[in-house]
Order: sequence, then C-alpha cells, then structure tokens
Amino acid sequence: MFTKVLLLVALVAGIVVFFKIKDKKSIEKQSDEFVNAVEMKQDSICGSFVEDTTKYKVRLHDKLYCFCSEECKNKFIEKHTK
Ligand SMILES: [Zn+2]
Repeated sequence: MFTKVLLLVALVAGIVVFFKIKDKKSIEKQSDEFVNAVEMKQDSICGSFVEDTTKYKVRLHDKLYCFCSEECKNKFIEKHTK
C-alpha cells in the first residue's frame, strides 16, 4: 500500500515538473519572438517608445519616424515643413 502511494506521489510530482518546464520554455520562446518581430522607435516629439508597426509614421529624407499619436505626428510635420 505504502509503495503504491509513493509511486503515485512521484508520478504526480513528475507531471507537475514536466508542465512547469514546458510552460517556462514556451514563455521564453514567445518573448524571444516578440523582441525579434517588433522594433521599437523613439517618438522624437514626446520621447516615448513606439513599435515600428504604428500607423503614425512619416518618411523624411529617407528616414522613418514613428509617433505615438496623430498629434505627435502632426507636430513633427509642422516642425519640419516650416
Ligand atoms: Zn508622442
């Protein structure tokens, strides 16, 4: 009887450890992909960092500028078109 309980406990512990390792690995993989997929650009108006996938961006003198909002984008355009 005692051996059976011990075996069961060992089995459950093994399963728990297995899933913990699996979870950790998948989280690490996800964060790696996140870092690779999205490049952060600095908003030159307010200084905050935005993803380069933002829809608020302007190409000027062959350089891409990204902004956090329409407001910052407009301020930038205003500043560089005067
Ligand atoms: Zn901004």
